[in-house]
Amino acid sequence: MANKTYRTCQNCGTVNLNRDYCKNCGEIININLKRKLEREQKAKEKTASEKVKKKIKSPSYLNTQRNMKMYLHTILHVSFIPFVSWCSP
Ligand SMILES: [Zn+2]
Repeated sequence: MANKTYRTCQNCGTVNLNRDYCKNCGEIININLKRKLEREQKAKEKTASEKVKKKIKSPSYLNTQRNMKMYLHTILHVSFIPFVSWCSP
């Protein structure tokens, strides 16, 4: 290889040649890779939190509709069935 990149590990001080990760402790020593990974991690966290927000938002809306239906259903049954059974001989 023509390009020799020496990177010193910030964690343990080991000098690594042409490596992205420290051969001694496994720490990321390629700062560009580290930043890229951090960016990807943040993007992932952002989309995950947005998904969670959406998840929380839509079921609560659905739940209120479902609850309303259940409520009306129950009211109808509770008031209608005894009325019919009372009226019928
Ligand atoms: Zn190290």
